Amino acid sequence: MSEWEHLIPRPSSRFLKLRCRSCENEQIVYSHTTHLIKCRACGEVLAEPRGGKAKINGIIIAVLG
Ligand SMILES: [Zn+2]
Repeated sequence: MSEWEHLIPRPSSRFLKLRCRSCENEQIVYSHTTHLIKCRACGEVLAEPRGGKAKINGIIIAVLG
């Protein structure tokens, strides 16, 4: 049994900086969010939960650790 397996973070889980396609507002979104994420400025849907990795509708402009 490997001691390392539970120490390695899941590589696909990230915080993403998204830009809204409608109004260019920028917002930080978790890549595996379980909530519908809407733009704070205009209400456009930026990310939809998909039971794992969220479906990203905004433009990804940065990936944060
Ligand atoms: Zn917007």
